[in-house]
Amino acid sequence: MIDDAVRGELRIDEPLARHTSWRVGGPAARLYRPADRDDLIAFLAGLGPDEPLLWLGLGSNVLISDRGFPGTVIETQGCLTAMERLDATRIRAEAGVSCAKAARFASRHGLIGIEFLAGIPGTIGGALAMNAGAWGGETWPHVALVRTIDRHGEVRERPPADFEVGYRHVRIHAGEWFLEAELALSHGDTEAAQARIRELLDRRAATQPTGLPSCGSVFRNPPGDHAARLIEAAGLKGRRIGGAEVSPKHANFIINLGDASARDIARLIDLVRDEVERTSGIRLIPEVRRVGDFEP
Ligand SMILES: Cc1cc2nc3c(=O)[nH]c(=O)nc-3n(C[C@H](O)[C@H](O)[C@H](O)COP(=O)(O)OP(=O)(O)OC[C@H]3O[C@@H](n4cnc5c(N)ncnc54)[C@H](O)[C@@H]3O)c2cc1C
Repeated sequence: MIDDAVRGELRIDEPLARHTSWRVGGPAARLYRPADRDDLIAFLAGLGPDEPLLWLGLGSNVLISDRGFPGTVIETQGCLTAMERLDATRIRAEAGVSCAKAARFASRHGLIGIEFLAGIPGTIGGALAMNAGAWGGETWPHVALVRTIDRHGEVRERPPADFEVGYRHVRIHAGEWFLEAELALSHGDTEAAQARIRELLDRRAATQPTGLPSCGSVFRNPPGDHAARLIEAAGLKGRRIGGAEVSPKHANFIINLGDASARDIARLIDLVRDEVERTSGIRLIPEVRRVGDFEP
């Protein structure tokens, strides 16, 4: 039973295409946007024990099936957005804070190390779940501690040692999600940090199809190589299935040309993986997470 006292926004049969950067995905039975942390705790405490749960930040690394999600989606972006400086070198950011805001907040306070987050179109929760990174930087080396929440609304404080962290991979305790993180940063110069942010954003704009619906890089880079190089070498730039296209600008991006279905994208991902394996012998591993049923 969902408590009448909850203050957030509950939407029924909400199309998830509105909540993902690929602009695809069928409806969620329920989508909840908590008013704040206490409200989230109250909402979770009222959920049935078998209710399927999916957490979404900005939806910039998920491929959600056209059939949608038969449970409750907790959306954090624009909701859990508190951020503060804790002491000389640490900041606290809730799961829904955008990566760009965290990078700018830190640089304004003369704290450096997370400038790379400025160009990642996700939330702190998503960055923790994916160990998001760019230009040699990664999220977890800056994590001092996290607070997680479970499906009963119970909050736990956990050190980084409690997690198995790798390249675009984090093993999370089953049934726990990220509520917030404390990040430990270094002292630096605000102007230099802001110049670095601008430089990284310019580099991104020059090399990636920014502004078109995508999920960023679809595949992880294999050791010692680049997925984009292998995909281009397999002659796949510009390959289309339905409304999905391998970006002519950056081969590891798949673009929704406007009317792609999740199934078009899933089929194009599979085709790229198989063709690259056939031509190079390397089997690429997707970075993007599939949610739901993709059977024909
Ligand atoms: C144009 C573009 C460029 C990109 N560039 C980069 C890049 O340079 N580097 C990079 O690493 N990624 C990049 N990405 C991918 C994506 O932005 C990152 O993976 C980002 O960290 C995802 O954050 P999100 O909030 O959108 O997560 P979502 O896509 O909403 O979720 C991703 C996964 O995390 C889980 N999750 C979300 N919130 C929580 C939470 N609070 N607790 C537990 N689990 C949670 C979800 O269930 C899902 O499994 C790019 C994407 C785009 C569209």
